[in-house]
Amino acid sequence: MTKEKFKMNDEVWFIYSTVNLRSNICCPCCDGRGTVRSGITKCRTMCPVCSGKANVTSYEKKWQVADSHRTAKISSISKKIFEDETGEEMSILYDTSYFETYRYGFSDESDWVGIGKGLKEDEIFRTLEEAQLECNKRNNENF
Ligand SMILES: [Zn+2]
Repeated sequence: MTKEKFKMNDEVWFIYSTVNLRSNICCPCCDGRGTVRSGITKCRTMCPVCSGKANVTSYEKKWQVADSHRTAKISSISKKIFEDETGEEMSILYDTSYFETYRYGFSDESDWVGIGKGLKEDEIFRTLEEAQLECNKRNNENF
């Protein structure tokens, strides 16, 4: 039986990720030339990454602490079984009071739907320092 690390009403900090679309960045494969030199024939051929356009679009995932000024309260704990070819894995998911408590402060509610919901244990922390450290670690892995 999987044991939960957090309890109902625990005050926690949580992190979430946003994805930024960065378009027209210089192609890292051909360095913006649109062509690459073949290692065998030494001929220049069309870059396979940008297809000769010299620019690419990339996605940048950024982790951040949801709110560095206040904690959220765990409002529900559920267990979900994920199945794949290797078998079943039980995940514990937490919802927090974050959305219900603070959504009225945001001009565009739709941006905040789902934030603070369905969090995994490795996205919740007892201290702000731990949460910030985990964000830094995850953001550095992107590069
Ligand atoms: Zn390229």
